Amino acid sequence: MRDPYDAIVIGGGHNGLTSAAYLARAGWRVLVLERRHVLGGAAVTEEIVPGFRFSVASYVVSLLRPEVIRDLDLPRHGLEILPLDGTFTPLPEGAAAAAGVAGPDYLWRVNDHGRTVRELRRWSKLDAEAYEEYGRLMVQMARFIKPILSIVPPDPTGLDPRPFLPLAGVARAFGRLPEAQQAVFIQLMTMSSADFLDQWFETDPLKATMAASGIIGTFQGIRSPGTAYVLLHHYMGEIDGAFRTWGIPKGGTGGISEAIASAARGFGAEIRTEAPVARILERGGRATGVALESGEEIEARHVFSSVDARRTFLDLVEAGSLDEDFVADVRRIRYRGSSGKVNLAVDALPDFRSLPGPGEHLRGAISISPGTEWMERAYDDAKYGHFSRRPYMDMVIPTLVDPTMAPPGKHVISCFVQYAPYELAPELGGWDAQREAFGDTVVDTIAEFAPNIRDIVVGRQVLTPLDLERQMGLSEGNIFQGELSLEQLFFSRPVPGYARFRTPIERLWMCGSAAHPGGGIMGAPGRLAAIEALTADRTGRRGRMRSRNRLRPQLAARTDARSALAARQATASELGGRRA
Ligand SMILES: Cc1cc2nc3c(=O)[nH]c(=O)nc-3n(C[C@H](O)[C@H](O)[C@H](O)COP(=O)(O)OP(=O)(O)OC[C@H]3O[C@@H](n4cnc5c(N)ncnc54)[C@H](O)[C@@H]3O)c2cc1C
Repeated sequence: MRDPYDAIVIGGGHNGLTSAAYLARAGWRVLVLERRHVLGGAAVTEEIVPGFRFSVASYVVSLLRPEVIRDLDLPRHGLEILPLDGTFTPLPEGAAAAAGVAGPDYLWRVNDHGRTVRELRRWSKLDAEAYEEYGRLMVQMARFIKPILSIVPPDPTGLDPRPFLPLAGVARAFGRLPEAQQAVFIQLMTMSSADFLDQWFETDPLKATMAASGIIGTFQGIRSPGTAYVLLHHYMGEIDGAFRTWGIPKGGTGGISEAIASAARGFGAEIRTEAPVARILERGGRATGVALESGEEIEARHVFSSVDARRTFLDLVEAGSLDEDFVADVRRIRYRGSSGKVNLAVDALPDFRSLPGPGEHLRGAISISPGTEWMERAYDDAKYGHFSRRPYMDMVIPTLVDPTMAPPGKHVISCFVQYAPYELAPELGGWDAQREAFGDTVVDTIAEFAPNIRDIVVGRQVLTPLDLERQMGLSEGNIFQGELSLEQLFFSRPVPGYARFRTPIERLWMCGSAAHPGGGIMGAPGRLAAIEALTADRTGRRGRMRSRNRLRPQLAARTDARSALAARQATASELGGRRA
């Protein structure tokens, strides 16, 4: 029988793979076990309609940590991020005129700042001026808070001051901010995204489109307090993500996972697909390996789970082996999936009424967020257990920047849709009964702006929160393995007291988005968990060596004593034997 692995990683999503790559790079013998036939988790590419490949769940990237790209040399393993230019918000016919604005019924912001400011001037001179200042301020705020992404959160109840040192750096940086910026930071931590933006802008479609960043993946509306922080979260990617802006990975988001998997294999990690883990094995409060659903048991010195906290602690860990208070904390984590995904295979491009024909406006994000009332009403439906009759949508046509995803001349359209509450009102009969109606609502909503959509769809995939749970193992379909609300971040992710990737079971580590700093294609939890475990292991070994060295004279004395005793016993039995 082979020696146990140094580490088993449960789940081959991009974070599990990142942990595996870092651990293998440090010389550990590592095995990744993925439940599905394909790697990537929520960052996965699959051919759903013959000839059409989709980023099935996540579809754009910006937060991928530069240190992960660098350390794992991901470009050498095929990572390529293609730029996504701007955000186009189509508006209903006559919307501009109704707002007293000359020109077409859309709002179009591009990466060229000057062009965006000229477009905004059409709507409001004040907004055009404020936009520059707002952009500068958010970049400064994000620059100040961004180091949090690479910090291992200290335990607030811990007595050891060392883990607090990196945080002290952030606190000092806060102290150095001008007073006005400190006040803005407090606003960002406490306000709703819409209220925050109301202080800056008057153009309603601009506020609606910008506020949308604050609600992605949460069961909150643009007027719910706390959502302003998520605006900031998105700016963090824009200032130092892979390419300083949102981009599309070549080959879909699965391309990122495949590049990380290739790096991990290059460092010697083994990766098995179709290998669902049924149970985490433990002995004496320490993880010792896993049992697969097939019954196979595999031993390891450490176990890493990139699966969400509910699944890890309530399904995979043996019932009764965790403290009741800890289990209660896990049960309290809010998942409440609120998003769905509709992937369309089309044989022509959508033709928007407000800007007809193909053009640059289709090459970036297309945001169905024509006004703040639209956004709030979409949330109202969800509050009472219905999917939004007219949802907010973030659409992308990846084939315009990466034509390899569909047959020549054809396209894929990715529609991220909110709101689709996990818990539907009882009279709707559950998601299996509502899936196609939800898909139809998405297509009908797009048709309000681009009427040809119904004629060009040749295939579609509709993913409800229930499907995200079933297919990807995301509890309640939450896209981030737990809401990214302030009370579930930093010290408290996944639960208070266990934010340092450790768990109540020794050598069981959390390494997916359930851990700090949370969801999104970042690779941050995977990297930080691996570094924590490697450091703890090294410190543990050094500690064991030191205590062994310290004990050596005593051990020697004990050995001498033992030999003397053995010698005495031998002599005694010899004598006894002789006596007998
Ligand atoms: C619809 C949707 C849209 C999104 N859009 C974006 C976006 O555009 N940009 C962005 O940055 N982020 C986006 N996200 C979030 C982002 O994709 C995730 O936060 C991230 O991919 C999570 O990675 P992970 O490795 O932590 O976990 P996961 O990707 O959840 O990986 C966990 C893995 O564990 C496997 N697994 C589960 N149970 C077991 C078991 N028992 N045994 C073995 N394996 C198991 C799963 O199959 C999965 O592969 C989106 C997510 C969704 C769902």
